[in-house]
Amino acid sequence: MVNTNLAGLTPSLLKELQSNYGFKASKALGQNFLVDPNLCTKIAHYLPVGSNVLEIGPGIGSLTLHLARQANKVIAIELDKHLLNPLNCVLDTFGVPEKVDVINQDIMKTDLELLCSKNNIEYIFGNLPYNISAPLLADISRKVPNVKCVVAMVQKEVGERLSAKLGTRAVGAITYKCQFFMEIENIVHVPKMSFIPRPHVDSVVIKMDRRADKDPRAILSSSQTDEMFELIDTAFAQRRKMLRQSLKIFFGSHLEAVFELAKVDPTLRPEQLTSEDFLNLYTSWVEQGNK
Ligand code: SAM
Repeated sequence: MVNTNLAGLTPSLLKELQSNYGFKASKALGQNFLVDPNLCTKIAHYLPVGSNVLEIGPGIGSLTLHLARQANKVIAIELDKHLLNPLNCVLDTFGVPEKVDVINQDIMKTDLELLCSKNNIEYIFGNLPYNISAPLLADISRKVPNVKCVVAMVQKEVGERLSAKLGTRAVGAITYKCQFFMEIENIVHVPKMSFIPRPHVDSVVIKMDRRADKDPRAILSSSQTDEMFELIDTAFAQRRKMLRQSLKIFFGSHLEAVFELAKVDPTLRPEQLTSEDFLNLYTSWVEQGNK
């Protein structure tokens, strides 16, 4: 039985769990376990008391037990079946098993919209596996409108890209794709030593709040949003070039008319545009007959 006289999951408790349950951290699944209870408490406090929350990748419960103390219900989706026993042990040990439903499933194969609406979930938290964090957050931003806030630990570079101020060099296509739907800020810087095993890079916690305005879904269908995102990807594929060059093939014979109608300067680079500029370029292209 593990030592229960603790604020949360510490390095010595992790060691004890590893020797009791014989699991190793899997690199392929991005397993870096948080062993800093103060940090976990700080992150969990962004969850309003009494709410339902989806946790992505609970691991052995470092953050889960702190979320459970705040939440009405935690739904925790973990892919690695080897972690389920130690995770349940941690939840039992800290007295929160009835607050948490653990689902052994791949988050990338989960219908998040259905899961969240069925369980009345408006908050998603997680110390995300690095290899899936950016596409997962883009998907949640766009496809799970019921979720109004996401608090996620990501690699520092990913966090900086997602939260970059539009109009600066730090932006990429993913910045626009997420910021159409969410306001994003970095809230906590997390040093490598907060994890076992230690990752090669620093991490940040970002907070994404759903925007009340500017949602392109109000005027674009899902396939049109796909097309607008293709436009953004095309522009960023040659980010050093002027838009009139990088979007030449995309707009074809309508090139000049589209820029004129959208009131966007064709000599700009993609990083200099606002979200509205991209939206205007797309809708102007549609108006031109997009052939
Ligand atoms: N939340 C724990 C913590 O902070 O210590 C673990 C975080 S670890 C960075 C990422 C977790 O996500 C691991 O437990 C890993 O097994 C899990 N994971 C990786 N890929 C996943 C997927 N596709 N679906 C669900 N969980 C996944």
